[in-house]
Amino acid sequence: MNCPGIQDRIHAYMDGELDLVTALGVEQHLSVCPACRYAHAKHEVSRTIVRRHATIYAAPPSMRTYVLAQITPPRTLLRATLSKLLPMSRSWFGPALAMSVALMSAVMAFVAAPGESDRLPEEIVSGHVRTLISGHFTEIASSDQRAVKPWFDGKLDFSPPVDNLAAQGFALVGGRLDYIKERRVAALVYSHRGHPINVFVWPAADGDIALRSRSHKGYNLVNWTHAGMFFCAVSDLSHTELIELARMLQTDIG
Ligand SMILES: [Zn+2]
Repeated sequence: MNCPGIQDRIHAYMDGELDLVTALGVEQHLSVCPACRYAHAKHEVSRTIVRRHATIYAAPPSMRTYVLAQITPPRTLLRATLSKLLPMSRSWFGPALAMSVALMSAVMAFVAAPGESDRLPEEIVSGHVRTLISGHFTEIASSDQRAVKPWFDGKLDFSPPVDNLAAQGFALVGGRLDYIKERRVAALVYSHRGHPINVFVWPAADGDIALRSRSHKGYNLVNWTHAGMFFCAVSDLSHTELIELARMLQTDIG
């Protein structure tokens, strides 16, 4: 990567949104290029200033309840609900909405799934990286859910829900067995814009739990519990894209 390429990626690098290889490339370049290091330092300074001095609009406590209740419907509905909750002028609705969504993400990030160990993100990312390194993504390679779902019969003590979402941009690539939290789990593989996504599935001990999104070692993870199953999607794709997939899987499984 040359200097313009590095500087285009600095924000994504600082936000932990780059895949591992690209992040290492940026890091390496920063260690040898004073111009890019200067650009990076400038962004760090402005980020600190914004964190310390920007005005934060506190959302009313009722918003959490509303947002959690509305989390599945389309964004337009969420926006309409929020606009009803926040009687404010048009000009600062945008920033306030962004701030509220950021606040909600922060709130959700603290809602850990009960019984979920702290090692989970590490195990999930390790599982994902193993497939990237070995290139061994699937034991059954098929975009047909009617072929992938029965493949798990007899290999697991549960039957994972399988959906092909190719029409919505998330093509089913296949499935395989994996081993997470000292148990056999189903790994469903999807592809989006050429990026592989692993969705790990196993039976949940608890009832439905809303989406939780986080990052680990440059990868993004979104997990949720729905219809008796725990799901965790992992990829170098953005949180937004993983959440999009998660919502479709939640809706399809009903
Ligand atoms: Zn440079």
